[in-house]
Amino acid sequence: MPRASNLRLPIGGRTMVAAVFGDPVEHSLSPAMHNAAYAALAMNRVYLAFHVTIDKLPEALRAIPALNLLGVNLTVPHKQEALHTVTNLSAEARLLGAANCIVAREGALFGDNTDARGLERDLRELGVTLAGRTAIVIGAGGAAAAAVLAAIRMEAGHIIVVNRTASRAKDLAKRFSATRGSTKIDTAGLDALKYPGVLGAAAIVLNATPMGLKTAHFAPIEYAATTPECFFYDLVYAPQVTPFLKPAADAGRRVADGAGMLLHQGVLAFELFNEVGAPVEAMRRGLMDALGRGMRGVSRVARITQT
Ligand code: NAP
Repeated sequence: MPRASNLRLPIGGRTMVAAVFGDPVEHSLSPAMHNAAYAALAMNRVYLAFHVTIDKLPEALRAIPALNLLGVNLTVPHKQEALHTVTNLSAEARLLGAANCIVAREGALFGDNTDARGLERDLRELGVTLAGRTAIVIGAGGAAAAAVLAAIRMEAGHIIVVNRTASRAKDLAKRFSATRGSTKIDTAGLDALKYPGVLGAAAIVLNATPMGLKTAHFAPIEYAATTPECFFYDLVYAPQVTPFLKPAADAGRRVADGAGMLLHQGVLAFELFNEVGAPVEAMRRGLMDALGRGMRGVSRVARITQT
């Protein structure tokens, strides 16, 4: 018996198309997730990756209704750049200053952002609870903004945004001043990660920077000062355990990388594009196959090292 994700309908005149626009885009795992979902639901639809350079983005976005595309995902930096062209935005896309999903509704473009909700779903699936507790977010870019919003939604009592450039951390905190509710948001430099008093209070430490992947080392972190219950979450995902997570896993802390966030932002995008419930497990399997991991490895990096 072929697995559902291996079943493919022939592409024909009735096949409808969804896509991701990016530069580069060849590395995108979204086609694997979305096409696994179409196969599982036996939908005559296909998801493709289009190499779109940033100068051509407005043109490509305006072609979405003309080509009757189901919906389009955007990678960095297109998700920020799209806001110059797509002005009909969800409150979340406006707050995050980026749209990772674009659909045409009655001929007009609409932009949404599913990153924060994707992360929140993954954290809840992993059993993380933040109500009244402290979350440390490393970074101050778009991914960090999604992490801050997810922590606010999970009713964190205190968020500390730690970033190399202090002004960017302050700008990020300011952006949430109207939506943070009772969550207190402070900012600090990367040095704060060395202070036992800061690390010792954390229920979760989230990395939203490419440190350690694009650079030789991650900033020094006082892992030993965290409580045994502290969760380390890397929004970055990679075939191997990331340099941010490795010392945490070695110290026996619970860890996860961003594959689960990627899955759940994709699930939400699928539902927006196709207006049907997403087959989450088929998408998880499609993503895991593309990442070369076993099914249990979607978020639990500690398990990946054991398999
Ligand atoms: P971004 O806007 O470019 O932000 C990068 C952040 O990283 C900034 O705060 C920057 O600090 C910091 N940074 C970069 N290089 C650094 C270095 N050498 N040392 C210290 N800090 C450094 O990027 P982004 O869009 O937020 O994405 C960040 C990461 O999240 C990416 O690697 C991406 O793969 C990941 N991500 C994952 C998902 C998912 O679904 N799992 C979704 C979105 C993003 P400064 O402000 O000082 O420059």
